[in-house]
Amino acid sequence: MKLMVIGCGGVATVAIHKCYENPVFTEILVASRTKSKCDALAEKLRSRTKAVITTATVNADRVESLTELMNKFKPHTVLNVALPYQDLTIMDACLECGANYVDTANYEAENTDDPEWRAIYEKRCKEKGFTALFDYSWQWAYQDKFKAAGLTALLGTGFDPGVTSVYTAYALKHYFDEIHYIDILDCNGGDHGYPFATNFNPEINLREVSSNGSYWEEGHWVETKPMEIKREYDFDGVGMKDMYLLHHEEIESLAKNIPNVKRIRFFMTFGQSYLTHMNCLQNVGMLGTAPVQFEGREIVPIKFLKALLPDPASLGPRTVGKTNIGCIFRGIKDGKERNIYIYNVCDHQECYKETGAQAVSYTTGVPAMIGTSMIASGTWSGAGVFNVEEFDPDPYMEALNKYGLPWQVNENPVLVD
Ligand code: NDP
Repeated sequence: MKLMVIGCGGVATVAIHKCYENPVFTEILVASRTKSKCDALAEKLRSRTKAVITTATVNADRVESLTELMNKFKPHTVLNVALPYQDLTIMDACLECGANYVDTANYEAENTDDPEWRAIYEKRCKEKGFTALFDYSWQWAYQDKFKAAGLTALLGTGFDPGVTSVYTAYALKHYFDEIHYIDILDCNGGDHGYPFATNFNPEINLREVSSNGSYWEEGHWVETKPMEIKREYDFDGVGMKDMYLLHHEEIESLAKNIPNVKRIRFFMTFGQSYLTHMNCLQNVGMLGTAPVQFEGREIVPIKFLKALLPDPASLGPRTVGKTNIGCIFRGIKDGKERNIYIYNVCDHQECYKETGAQAVSYTTGVPAMIGTSMIASGTWSGAGVFNVEEFDPDPYMEALNKYGLPWQVNENPVLVD
């Protein structure tokens, strides 16, 4: 089966490593903005696989650049591990060229000051009640087009969203008649030794963390100030950490797809030093996305900041410690209350030894490959736009154990108040 991977950053590096281990992928084209990165990765991996690997330059912001390449390569499926800014152009190109589409993050506009985008965004904030700059409406709007074309678009197959959503489908299938409360806990106990760095793309990461939090309760969104809700949790493999409630994209799709759910929250751990740096950068305007004039030229503050910060891909060799990501579910089985916690613990150094990337890229890249393989092998199929929790979770859960993200179930977890 022919796979085209778009992007060659941290997540792509892991996803491509893992594609090489899966015989369903027989031909892989790695295409990104900087071809030299694709060439270097292909060179490194060529001896490890029977799959035929080629590389190309592509500008994924332009549909024509994508279709030109797709018409030559004729991929069965396209895995988008570039940035969320490119989701819609890549979906358009897939429709034009008859390819299935897979990604790990929902659409986000690159220029949030664009008046046309802002008008739609402000209407959505009023109607839906949350102010995050990203949401699923843009991609769910492609439902009819993918249906009519007989193609599958699989949205959000990273860890969160992705594995956390599959954990939810699995819990509902095997442990509950109804799930009422979902707490998604994302803990990174890794230490890279820098005073400040982000574990994945700084623009995407800092925007997410500096925005208002929100959670889903009794059929509507409740919005909080950034970092307003804090809890402590003792994570297996990591220990006690502070965690903060954030808005996160899988809350939106789980609220739609999990019947009877009463509340969904998402917490992520942050150290005090990270938060102090981030607040300072925000206060001085360094997280801005609108261009400013500097010495006769335009610069975008957050892009300039990205150039100064360590490249997330370079954190691998320095990062030690573990991640622990999972979901605590509370609900009903056979009329009785039940609580379970499904989670994965991943070691940064082990990920680095295997793939040259740290655990944040690893925990996203492995499920990116698994979701793609579900579509490539026909294990998951259907025409239209889907989130991962809409399919049978069992083959995906098996693949997580096989490809490096084994999970555990704790049937008596400590709950989050
Ligand atoms: P990186 O910034 O490391 O990599 C992005 C890659 O996309 C780079 O190779 C970059 O090229 C390429 N790219 C950017 N713009 C274009 C363009 N216009 N045309 C072609 N290629 C382009 O990001 P990550 O690997 O950390 O993240 C990849 C994706 O994974 C993101 O969408 C992120 O949001 C998502 N993610 C999802 C998670 C989840 O759990 N669901 C968790 C973490 C990340 P160049 O090398 O030239 O810069």
